[in-house]
Amino acid sequence: MTDQIKAAARRLGFNPVGIASADPPQHWAFYQKWLGMGYAGEMGYLGRNLDRRSDVRQIVPNAKSVLCAGLNYLPDSDASENGSHPKGQIARYARGDDYHAVMEDRLFELLAEIQRIEPSAEGRVYVDTGPVLERDFAARAGLGWFGKHTCLIDKGRGSWFFLGEIILNLELECDQPQPDHCGTCTQCLDACPTDAIVEPYRVDSRRCISYLTIELKGAVPRALRSDVGNWVFGCDICQEVCPWNHKHAEPTSEDAFQARPGLNAPGLVDLLHMDQAAFSKRFKNSPIKRAKRRGLLRNVAIALGNVGGQSEVPALSDALKDDEPLVRQHAAWALGKIGGDQAQQVLDEALHCERDAEAIKEMRLALEAINQRGK
Ligand code: SF4
Ligand code: SF4
Repeated sequence: MTDQIKAAARRLGFNPVGIASADPPQHWAFYQKWLGMGYAGEMGYLGRNLDRRSDVRQIVPNAKSVLCAGLNYLPDSDASENGSHPKGQIARYARGDDYHAVMEDRLFELLAEIQRIEPSAEGRVYVDTGPVLERDFAARAGLGWFGKHTCLIDKGRGSWFFLGEIILNLELECDQPQPDHCGTCTQCLDACPTDAIVEPYRVDSRRCISYLTIELKGAVPRALRSDVGNWVFGCDICQEVCPWNHKHAEPTSEDAFQARPGLNAPGLVDLLHMDQAAFSKRFKNSPIKRAKRRGLLRNVAIALGNVGGQSEVPALSDALKDDEPLVRQHAAWALGKIGGDQAQQVLDEALHCERDAEAIKEMRLALEAINQRGK
């Protein structure tokens, strides 16, 4: 039955596929310590429902096995595209459609297949949607080992794959975990621009660009903004440098995960000009919706401060009049970073009309930065 179920999963495009027992997670103590260190930042949901998170049998009382399924999301090519310069970067997983819906539908199809194979089967589908430590199950199910960057790496595929699970009432044959093949490599730790991988196998989300550009809802800490570079949604650096991805990663055959037009290398000024209607239209069914317009434009402003120049001052000047104070704050920071007479003038003018206390603070700091550089 296990082989039939795995074959059905592969027919539906899942790969790798494996089975873990429904026993409590192995990394539970590690997880609690990670939460205790505050590394989850503002992701308060990760600390909720701990009793259920510590044992899936609290969610599905008759759970016996967890089917873990991977789905490759690596888009076809990173070719540069038309659109305004300078360009931003979006994490590869977010360039196509939202994987939650794609994977969930596919896992429900798989559950129906499993019920055809074994009519007594009952299952619960999860795709990052509930209190389940999915990487723990996936590692035990042999889908990969925890890399030092904390993503799961499959020896034959690398790490560009999503995870989903079906918690089942069936007693299936469990797989063996893959041994750790990181060895003495430290490339991900060395390449991380914000030193978010504070030690091997431990990421402080509060420093991670993925967290800063997606999960964090307020202002990005000033000390980290320069290191965010031109990433406007997520960050792939630690996976890009991983030798296992260099050796083994292949593009996905899933159309849904191919990059939408313009998202391999989006023009930053084009993004900064989006109003709410344009944002909603462009990012319908996209993971980028999660940042909301205000979050994405905050990130775009930071990226322009890092990789923009005098030509981008007019666009940032427009952003100083945005309805969202968060966007105005970060546009001010970017103008302070770019500097020059025009940036100084637009900041001076904006400061006269600004009413938001944080935006006023950012504008003053930006003007100070320009003045200091002029001395
Ligand atoms: S995603 Fe980027 S910021 Fe986060 S740990 Fe990896 S390299 Fe560092
Ligand atoms: S870059 Fe090196 S240390 Fe980091 S996850 Fe890959 S193999 Fe492991």
